[in-house]
Amino acid sequence: MGVRILENKEDGYKCLYCSVTMWAFGPIFYKDEDPQEFLEWLGRIDPRSLTDKELENKVYDWRKTLEESNCKICGEPINNAESDLCLQHKLED
Ligand SMILES: [Zn+2]
Repeated sequence: MGVRILENKEDGYKCLYCSVTMWAFGPIFYKDEDPQEFLEWLGRIDPRSLTDKELENKVYDWRKTLEESNCKICGEPINNAESDLCLQHKLED
């Protein structure tokens, strides 16, 4: 695909770059974020084809889905998007 991930080993920040043009682009990903997951979430969309603004919006949407899919209490990932609690905490609720 040509989109690779560059990582700063010191602070764990990551960013995307194109291995064909050797051009870095897009947002900085935090230590606990996996840019590979973002690329998979994008699916068939090539992030290099997006404008900075479009890419910014995509990252915003992606971060929102990450927040929504974690339990409000324990932070465990949730399969059921209709709840903000994991199965265990949902039963206790
Ligand atoms: Zn929970």
